[in-house]
Amino acid sequence: MAPPDRFVIDTMLGKLARWLRALGYDALYFRAAEDRQLLRLARAEGRTLLTRDAKLARLAGSGGLLIRANEVEVQIAEVVERLTLAPGRENLLSRCLECNTPLEDRPKETVRGLVPEHVFATQERFVGCPGCARIYWQGSHADRILARLEKVLEPPSDSTRA
Ligand SMILES: [Zn+2]
Repeated sequence: MAPPDRFVIDTMLGKLARWLRALGYDALYFRAAEDRQLLRLARAEGRTLLTRDAKLARLAGSGGLLIRANEVEVQIAEVVERLTLAPGRENLLSRCLECNTPLEDRPKETVRGLVPEHVFATQERFVGCPGCARIYWQGSHADRILARLEKVLEPPSDSTRA
């Protein structure tokens, strides 16, 4: 069976939802939601439910995953390992971290005035969210998340560590 690529994230795991989006996964997250709403959504849309609530994870059965780690870096590693995800580099930063909408390329001229002047002057590649209108570029918050994800995606080999 192919690893899951669509998720619904329990209310306590907002940071994890952003990290999954940074990896390009479709990760729905609500600040407030009842367990039965999350379960219904997961089943209706074939999404894997990620939760810190053991009871909710039990109710979700094979469609759920109980997150044990506290730190988001460890949580994302836990999800990747236990669900045998293989996030591709080509999918990095393909979804809005804030609202989960797929991002679109934005030609540089179209973001003039929408990003800080020094950013416009020094950056060449931009992507934008059609959902919430956010613009992302190298060095934006998204890229700081990606830098930390490198460790998850490409653990240092013994040769580079020596
Ligand atoms: Zn957005």
